[in-house]
Amino acid sequence: MENIEMRKAMFKFGKDEKKCSGCRICEMACVLYNKKECNPKKAFIKISGNFPEPGGYNIKILKGCTLCGECTRICPIGALFEKKNPEEQK
Ligand code: SF4
Ligand code: SF4
Repeated sequence: MENIEMRKAMFKFGKDEKKCSGCRICEMACVLYNKKECNPKKAFIKISGNFPEPGGYNIKILKGCTLCGECTRICPIGALFEKKNPEEQK
């Protein structure tokens, strides 16, 4: 089984805040998968409105993120994605 250091070496987060719709399903997926809880406030990803700009969102990855990738898999519009390590693609 791969350990966290191996995953860190292979998994690179990509995010495109311009695409984000603010649905926050990524927060729910994160907390359900990692903490088996239904409380998005405890997620390792935080979506917040880009006040006062309507329709703009900030995506922040918080300390404790396990790099599981669940949020990148569930984002319906590709605002979160996994950047492949160039070494891995060879
Ligand atoms: S990053 Fe994706 S899943 Fe998360 S709030 Fe934005 S659109 Fe929704
Ligand atoms: S990669 Fe990080 S932020 Fe995304 S679901 Fe996993 S723990 Fe949460």
